Amino acid sequence: MLRSLGLKLTLAFLTVAILSVTLVAIVIGQRTMREFDQFVSDRFQHTLIEQLTDYYASNGSWRGLLDERDHGPGGPRFMRTRPELAGITLLDANANVIFSNLPKGAREFPIPNSTYKEVALKVNNQTVGWLQLNLPPDNSALISGAAELEFLRRVRLATIYSAVATSLLAVLLGWLLARAISKPVRELTLATQAVAQGQLGHQVTVQSSDEIGQLATSFNQMSADLAHATQLRRQMTADIAHDLRTPLSVILGYTEALNDGKLSGDEEIYDTLHNEAKHLNHLIDDLRLLSLADAKELPLNLVEVEPAEVLQRTAAAHQMRAQQVGIALEITTPPALPTIIADPERLAQVLGNLVNNAIRYTKSGGVISLRAGLQGHAVLLQVQDTGAGIDADELPYIFDRFYRGDKSRSNSGESGLGLAIAKSIVEAQGGAITVESTPGVGSTFIVALPTA
Ligand code: ADP
Repeated sequence: MLRSLGLKLTLAFLTVAILSVTLVAIVIGQRTMREFDQFVSDRFQHTLIEQLTDYYASNGSWRGLLDERDHGPGGPRFMRTRPELAGITLLDANANVIFSNLPKGAREFPIPNSTYKEVALKVNNQTVGWLQLNLPPDNSALISGAAELEFLRRVRLATIYSAVATSLLAVLLGWLLARAISKPVRELTLATQAVAQGQLGHQVTVQSSDEIGQLATSFNQMSADLAHATQLRRQMTADIAHDLRTPLSVILGYTEALNDGKLSGDEEIYDTLHNEAKHLNHLIDDLRLLSLADAKELPLNLVEVEPAEVLQRTAAAHQMRAQQVGIALEITTPPALPTIIADPERLAQVLGNLVNNAIRYTKSGGVISLRAGLQGHAVLLQVQDTGAGIDADELPYIFDRFYRGDKSRSNSGESGLGLAIAKSIVEAQGGAITVESTPGVGSTFIVALPTA
């Protein structure tokens, strides 16, 4: 098993390069040999024909052609060609055999897979004889000159040199490429190890937009999310401890004083104790609801619900309180809206929560509007107020657990869980909750739920 990606890639490049170079070398080698073979054969025939016609032209006949005195021992060169290299028969214009290197009586020498051809020998456009040739498929044995052999040797050498050079280049390029590819992967590996060792939020530099670049971007996102989630969890534990301690210390203080006899119980003290206990109970209920929603175990009674009906019910429940603080509460719904699938109790809880917030953050004389509308396959339920609004830098956090906009109010009874619960409940019903707000003008909370 090769452990390094770089080594694997280098070897892969090298293998591909060697395979292709070998293939190219074989193809070029064969092709060169074939062409060269053809060239040799053509030249052999050409020289033979030229010598013969030249002889006839200067002599006026074939007579004396085979005379050894003119040509040296063995006669003309073509007579010395062995029949298995090329079968040669020369005939005069009347088809009488003048010369043949074939065995006596044979007209054709049986060279396997050979080609036979007959060429008319012409002098001044007159046929003066015939040359019958019987050539084998491989003419390399006809190669005579040192120049031809040298040419072949050079071609072979050049092929070997270029194969070696290409392979070396492939190793070098492969190594560089492999390094370029495996470097970001190595960096990512180190980064995941860093995260595993607790360096949450560790980031890598994204160097490209290819798959590895996308992996790096996803890693950065995941690492940042992990750091954020851990930070939230820590913060939440601290917030829970803090929120439980405040009412508990009140209860402890009073009960100890009552127990010591330093305080005698009266209705006001019992009321305070009861309220603090109720507050604790409420907080614990909220936390339980959130943990159920997180575990996707929030019991829901999903039925078809008329959007207008939910809004009317919410308005009726809060009309009185709004009036008491001088805020107008109005409803606008288009006449025919499709029904939605929701748990009516939970939905009323969410809307009640939003209206409660709206009343809390709107001054006397303001208006709270409850609206319903249709958008695609969703019904939008809106709670709009003309209150304080929310700063843009706070907007992303208001649905976070224990987030309270105004830190100084953190002891005034609000837990900072209201919107987090609303979000969990809406999402558990397959919906979404969003907010739009302009500081000083007002806020609009929008609950989108799928139609039936
Ligand atoms: P809280 O218990 O503090 O009301 P919520 O989760 O209900 O907690 O709200 C979180 C924060 O969002 C609030 O502290 C407040 O700053 C802001 N907020 C919520 N509703 C409104 C609103 N209608 N107008 C202005 N600010 C709001």
